[in-house]
Amino acid sequence: MTRRILSIALDTPLDTEFDYRWAGSAADEAEPQCGQFALVPFGRREAVGLIVAVKDDTDVDSGRLRDVIAVRRQLAPVQPDWIALCRFAADYYQRPLGEVVLPCVPKNLRTNTTVALERALKKLAQARPAAMPADAVSQRPTLNEEQQAAVDAIIAGTGFQAHLLFGVTGSGKTEVYLNAAECLLEREREAGRPAQVLILVPEINLTPQLETSVRGRFPQLQVVTLHSQLAEGERLRNWIAAHHGQAQIVLGTRLAVLASLPALKMIIVDEEHDPSYKQQEGLRYSARDLAVWRAHQQRVPVVLGSATPSVESWLHAGSGRYRKLALTQRAAAAAQLPRVGLIDMEVNKAPDGISPPLVAALRERLARGEQSLLFLNRRGYAPVLHCDACGWISNCRRCTAFMVLHKPERRLRCHHCSLELRVPVSCPTCGNVDLQPLGRGTQRVEECLHGLFPDARVLRIDADSTRRKGSAQAAFDSVHRGEVDILLGTQMVAKGHDFQRLTLVGVLNPDTALFSQDYRAGERLFAQLMQVAGRAGRAGGAMRSDVLIQTRYPQHPLYRALMAHDYAGFAESTLAERRAAGLPPFIHQALLRAEAKTLQAALDFLASARELVSHEGVTLNEPVPMTITRVAGVERAQLLLESPSRPRLQAFLRQWMHALRATKSRLRWSLEVDPVDI
Ligand code: ADP
Ligand code: ZN
Ligand code: ZN
Repeated sequence: MTRRILSIALDTPLDTEFDYRWAGSAADEAEPQCGQFALVPFGRREAVGLIVAVKDDTDVDSGRLRDVIAVRRQLAPVQPDWIALCRFAADYYQRPLGEVVLPCVPKNLRTNTTVALERALKKLAQARPAAMPADAVSQRPTLNEEQQAAVDAIIAGTGFQAHLLFGVTGSGKTEVYLNAAECLLEREREAGRPAQVLILVPEINLTPQLETSVRGRFPQLQVVTLHSQLAEGERLRNWIAAHHGQAQIVLGTRLAVLASLPALKMIIVDEEHDPSYKQQEGLRYSARDLAVWRAHQQRVPVVLGSATPSVESWLHAGSGRYRKLALTQRAAAAAQLPRVGLIDMEVNKAPDGISPPLVAALRERLARGEQSLLFLNRRGYAPVLHCDACGWISNCRRCTAFMVLHKPERRLRCHHCSLELRVPVSCPTCGNVDLQPLGRGTQRVEECLHGLFPDARVLRIDADSTRRKGSAQAAFDSVHRGEVDILLGTQMVAKGHDFQRLTLVGVLNPDTALFSQDYRAGERLFAQLMQVAGRAGRAGGAMRSDVLIQTRYPQHPLYRALMAHDYAGFAESTLAERRAAGLPPFIHQALLRAEAKTLQAALDFLASARELVSHEGVTLNEPVPMTITRVAGVERAQLLLESPSRPRLQAFLRQWMHALRATKSRLRWSLEVDPVDI
């Protein structure tokens, strides 16, 4: 019986793998393999880690190593490619391997018992793929020429190719995904090879239509979903189904890009520009970027779909690194893109936030029995409560932010630290009872709509109205059933819904994003407005639809491009500005953030971090307070790094992180590579 030494990656900030001894127990027990999970003692507790190397025990000193407690043999080992993917993510985002590998597997796999694992395996062994009821099996439209050309291009190649599927809203991108997936799976089946397709979506819960379409189209295949809102048991079962290759289609949010998929043959990233592909805590990865890397690693095609691609992807499509496939028309018969008009708010005064032309447009829709959507990206009743007498305003005492008035709940809420107070009956400083709400959120617009159209059925959808599980779905269903005349909401309503009777979209107060100090705000606003505008006029027929944007800057180039449905023009001018200003994607960035009790401590930490390692070819800017400096009583500062060379930045970061960890500072800090919110 040979003894072995196992190198194990564990979920700890220590940037190393840990050696354990495997003494070999029962004679018939197979030797542990690389890629298996194992339970080991770690400090005073037990932890599950991943075996990343198995070595001969020739070391006389190995006696001081601790023994492995148990190897999870029930589960097939993960493949070397999957470990390589995690290792790439770990290196690129400057984290220890264990902090990538363990958080991305289901929690129930990381516990010190195997009860959940065994239960999941048993259930999976019993499960037969559920047959779809006949009416759920979807109709398939005949592809139009552009769709067919896109499908042909995607399945034509062998090996890696990134495709940018640039299709206007309603152009039928979903049909392209489904047909490409179908052709590819069919081809692999005929060749007798196992195959899996990964489909990434920004948010499954907001857009269940895609899941329905996928299941409807592939009733004979096993389709599983992977996202953070699944119950733990189901998440584990789905993860294992993917890992064992049983699930041929895996539909998931960003975390699914790190699923174990031994037979991966294609990746689809729907709405590739969406900010939710960026993880904002822990391993701050971009699922879109990892999807492209993974497709390259597996030598398979990846399809990035959007009506408003990220300017990074647009740049790659321009340079030929990605292949551009365009869908220029709406797919459904006679469906047209909506007319986009601007309402000049310097001319049209709107005391309640809805201008007379918009009121008139809403009235027309009500008269014709059509639906309208109002988009305002600000929840609550008013962003601030204010005392005219003494100047008091509703500051959060724990954050550099205002507390938002939530009138129906009679609460002041901080959206940053979630502090909640009852609305004061009088001014806390001077006693004035006449406190004024300043500005406007969705609740206030809802109130105003009830006043303007007492007979209309108004529905508000935002994070507050949909707190209960399933309530968002129920709300959207009632819109689809035609039980709502005016839908009002935040970005939650902008995502991929196919509302059939919607002929008017009104946009309230989008101007603030035009002057944001975040250089990506314009790009994001354009995408958001294009997407919300895309909810209108999807059915076609005689219903001509309008998008009306209330703005004080009707001459702004962003709105001009939007009126012309000219994403390409907008992207080109944005890229030209970024190039001139030396901003991404023409430069590479990383951001070091520090948190402390005092701002000075955070700034001092960053200042000393700046001096740690020489940094030729990398610019380290002055440390500065973050825009919202204090959140929940913690002061926050950041240091921006820039380099024209990605490899140089990467090499510097590796050294720098090493030096920073060695300082053993007690202060909380984190690094983000390719940051999106600066
Ligand atoms: P996108 O994702 O590009 O915004 P969808 O995939 O939601 O667009 O498609 C919009 C609508 O067009 C859907 O109702 C879909 O069923 C329909 N559609 C797609 N392709 C065709 C086609 N070739 N012929 C007719 N209708 C189609
Ligand atoms: Zn006062
Ligand atoms: Zn707060």
